[in-house]
Amino acid sequence: MTIRIYCERCGFIFYRGDELANPQEIIKKYGGKCPKCYKQLQLNPKNIKIIGIETRK
Ligand SMILES: [Zn+2]
Repeated sequence: MTIRIYCERCGFIFYRGDELANPQEIIKKYGGKCPKCYKQLQLNPKNIKIIGIETRK
């Protein structure tokens, strides 16, 4: 099984691999934001993927 953690908005892949990565660590590594579209990231623990959430300025 391949685990993929990606930005739902732009498709930027934060992590892809067979090992179960810690999504929270990955989010932390990127400062909680997608480096491509600057969307703030939120972990969805149900299916282990990172989804982008809209931020209002
Ligand atoms: Zn993005």
